[in-house]
Amino acid sequence: MPRHSITVTAYHADNTVCPSEHLHTRSGKPLTEGCAGRDHFMASCNFSTWTSSRSSTKNYSTAQGRRHRTEQQHAESAAPPKGPAVLRQLLRLDADD
Ligand SMILES: [Zn+2]
Ligand SMILES: [Zn+2]
Repeated sequence: MPRHSITVTAYHADNTVCPSEHLHTRSGKPLTEGCAGRDHFMASCNFSTWTSSRSSTKNYSTAQGRRHRTEQQHAESAAPPKGPAVLRQLLRLDADD
C-alpha cells in the first residue's frame, strides 16, 4: 500500500509544468532561459484521484494538500497511519519547501 503523499507542482501560464530545475529569484522572477515564470501551483496526491484547485502561491497549494490528506485517507483508512508516521510526513512536506 503506497503512502499517501502530496506533491505540489508549479505551472507556467500556458499550463505546462515548471519543473524544479527552473530557477527563480526569491520574488519569483525566472532565471532559466525559456521559463516564463511560475504562474500557479496545484497540489496532487499520489493516489491520482485528487488535485487541488489552482492557486497563486505554493504555500496555499501545500495547505490544500495537507487538508486533503487529513480529510481523505483513501484506501489507507483500513490501516491508518498514526502518530509519528503522520508527523514525519508533515515534517517532510515542510522541509520540501
Ligand atoms: Zn519554468
Ligand atoms: Zn489523496
